[in-house]
Parts: sequence; structure tokens; C-alpha cells
Amino acid sequence: MSVTAVVGANWGDEGKGKMTDVLAAQSKYVVRYQGGSNAGHTIINQFGKFALHLLPSGVFHPGVVNVIGPGVALNAGDFARELDGLLARGVPEPVLRVSERAQIVLPIHKLFDELEEERLQERKFGSTKAGIAPFYADKYLKLGVQVADLFDPERLKERMETNLAAKNVLLRELYGKAEIGADVVSDWLGELAALAERLRPFVCDTTELLHEAVRKDELILVEGQLGALRDPDHGIYPFSTSSSTLAGFAAVGAGIPPYAIKNVVAVAKAYSSCVGAGPFVTEIAETDGANELRRRGGDAGEYGATTGRPRSVGWFDAVATKYGCVVQGATEVALTNLDVLGYLEEIPICTAYRIDGEATGKFPVTASLERAEPVYETMPGWKTDISGARSYGELPEKARSYVERLEMLIEAPIRWISVGPRREQLIARW
Ligand code: GDP
Repeated sequence: MSVTAVVGANWGDEGKGKMTDVLAAQSKYVVRYQGGSNAGHTIINQFGKFALHLLPSGVFHPGVVNVIGPGVALNAGDFARELDGLLARGVPEPVLRVSERAQIVLPIHKLFDELEEERLQERKFGSTKAGIAPFYADKYLKLGVQVADLFDPERLKERMETNLAAKNVLLRELYGKAEIGADVVSDWLGELAALAERLRPFVCDTTELLHEAVRKDELILVEGQLGALRDPDHGIYPFSTSSSTLAGFAAVGAGIPPYAIKNVVAVAKAYSSCVGAGPFVTEIAETDGANELRRRGGDAGEYGATTGRPRSVGWFDAVATKYGCVVQGATEVALTNLDVLGYLEEIPICTAYRIDGEATGKFPVTASLERAEPVYETMPGWKTDISGARSYGELPEKARSYVERLEMLIEAPIRWISVGPRREQLIARW
């Protein structure tokens, strides 16, 4: 089986980083295919605790080739900082390859992200202000800059000037700001020239590299950022991200044949968490114990790995997760953070939504989702610390019943159960 995708079935932060880090041990390649440095994967291993934002999660395995594919929003400064940060903490120099076709997040993108959130005020979409939406907008407007352009100063200057001609009109007319002049452009070009030299040793034709790997039947992991419900086509638009978070997009964003993706591991949390704006049906009110679940969640509470923002928390949403698994094309599910629920007497599970008085198991469009109310059933809690369990049989019966009930509701096989943030805290059911 040459390509396995590790992707989110929910809103992101499902624990994909941990799953990728574990599965990377048997892989030859780990590939990022979309998104940028606007979210993060948390990984805990022998070197310490890390929040990776842009680098693929295979960087801790010396034998793995880590690839940044053409679909990624590459912030070259963040790339260099993240790499330096790993080396400074004693991680051996990872093998990294960056697609010559990946596009660069420019200073103008970050600036426009901030201006747009400021303009939208209350109607904003909860951007992390890393420039990702303006980056993808420019990419599809054909105003972007490819990695290869960094090594051609004339072409780069021309691309930047074409881009800024349109941006300056917006700056002046829409945002009421000063235009960006030639002196600023020249500073930006200087910074990009320095970053180009940092990137140079890693840049290659990653599509050729990965096609060759597929031909040789080498094991490739593609890792998605965020989750199915943030997908621009299938998620909670407009509270979505700007690139596809689906396993299907990996064929495009990584540059591999679509038929090579044999395994899709959809990662779901044993409860829900959601950072950023948008409808979140099973959200627990602060007065109903959200604080307690948030404090116990993840490895150090539910706070965004990149932004530090507190995540909203909720009960397991079987409607959203079943839909997330369907659009991901999940062949198996990894259920993470099961250990976190060990303090509860009873655990609610959302089995349906009630919209305008009607119960439905179907995940609706955003306009209806905003009116949806959760329909819950309740399972007994196991009231035990399960973080030391290493086989399915070692889990208390009530924990197994919870897992099996979720499996029935989401109609996808739960193969992996994660009972803690560390690599070894993982149960494989087969
Ligand atoms: P990702 O973006 O999907 O990689 O998820 P994040 O890393 O942002 O969030 C997952 C959080 O859960 C991190 O703090 C992980 O260390 C933590 N984590 C992952 N799996 C488990 C688990 O099974 N139990 C607990 N308690 N924490 C986990």
C-alpha cells in the first residue's frame, strides 16, 4: 500500500500530528500537501514537546524524507525559523524537500489578512492572520509567486510589481491606507533573496520524486492540516480554511497519482473541540463544565497549537464526524483523547440534529447548521485512568462500549485508539 493519508474528520486539532509521527516510523516519505503555518501539530517524543506548523511530522525520524508539496502555502521565514528551532533543541537535521512549484506567502498576504479582519469586525471569520486566505486568493488570481521564481530576481520583481499594482488600489480605496512604494518592495525583495538562499538546498521537483516513490511502492504518508469540516467545498463555508483539507486533494497538492492513495486514516477526537469561528452544535456552555473538559483535554488543555487561542469544547458529534469520514473517504478511523473522558460519570453523544423541529442525521449546509440543536444519548463513563492501556482488552468494558457505539454511529471502523499524547499511548485494534 504505497500512500496513506492522515487527515482530520472534524474541525482540526484531532491529534493528527501524533498519528503521523507514529505512522512515520514505517514510512519513507511524509508529505504536507495544503495549508500553511497557520495551524499546528503537537508532537511529544524523546526530544521533547513540539508544535510543528509547516514542517511535515516525519522530521523526527532520521530515515524519513519530509516533503512540502506544491499545494502548500510556504512562508519561507517560518520554514527557516521552525527548522532552526528543531536543530537548536537537539533534533538531528531532518531530510527536507520543497517543491519548486509551491507558492510563497508574501508580506503583503499577512498585511491583507489583518486589514480584512479589521474591516469585517464582528463579521470576521476567525482568521489566524498568517496571510493564508489572501495567499490562496492570489494563487487562484494567478498573482502568486512560485518557489522557483525566488531564484530569478527579474521575474520575481515583475511578479511582485504586478501583484502590488492591484493591491495598492485596494489599500487606498478599500482600506484607506497608504500605498506600498518602491522602497518597501525593494526591502521585501531583499528579504526574499536571503530566504531563497535558505531554501535553495531543499528545492526540487517533488512531484517527480513522489511519482518515482509510488512506482517503487515505497511507503508515503500524506498529512492534512485542519479537518474535513474546514474544507472550502465540503465544510462549514465560509468558516472554512482556504485550501482543501481532504485526502482526495492530496493527489493534487502533493503531486501523486490519485489511485495510489489506498488508506485514509481519518482522525477524530473522543469529544469535540473547535478553534475559530463558525457553528459548533455540541458546544458545552462554560456553566456546564466546558472549563473542566478544556483543562483536561489534549496534553496541556485545549489551546490552539499555533495561536494559543482557547478551543471551544463539546461532546462527540456523530453527525459531523460521520460526514467528516464520508467526505474524507475514511478507510479507518483513529479515535484520540479517549483518556480525557475518564473523569465523567456519564458521557453525552450527539446522535442527530434537530433543525426547525425535525430530527436529522444528515450534516446540513451552514445556513441550516446555524439553527441545529443537538440530540443526545448518554453512555455511562468508566471513571478510570486508561492512559496506561496498550491493548483493546485492557480498556474497561464501558470505554469499549463507548468506542463501539461511536463506531456504529459514524459507520467507519475505529482501528486506532489513542489514550495519551505520547507515541506509545496507542492501541491498534488490528
Ligand atoms: P493536530 O493539529 O490534529 O495534530 O492536533 P493538535 O496537535 O493541535 O491537538 C491535539 C492535542 O491533543 C495535542 O495537545 C496533543 O498532544 C494531544 N493529544 C493527541 N492525542 C492525544 C490523546 O490520545 N490523549 C491526550 N490526552 N492528548 C492527546
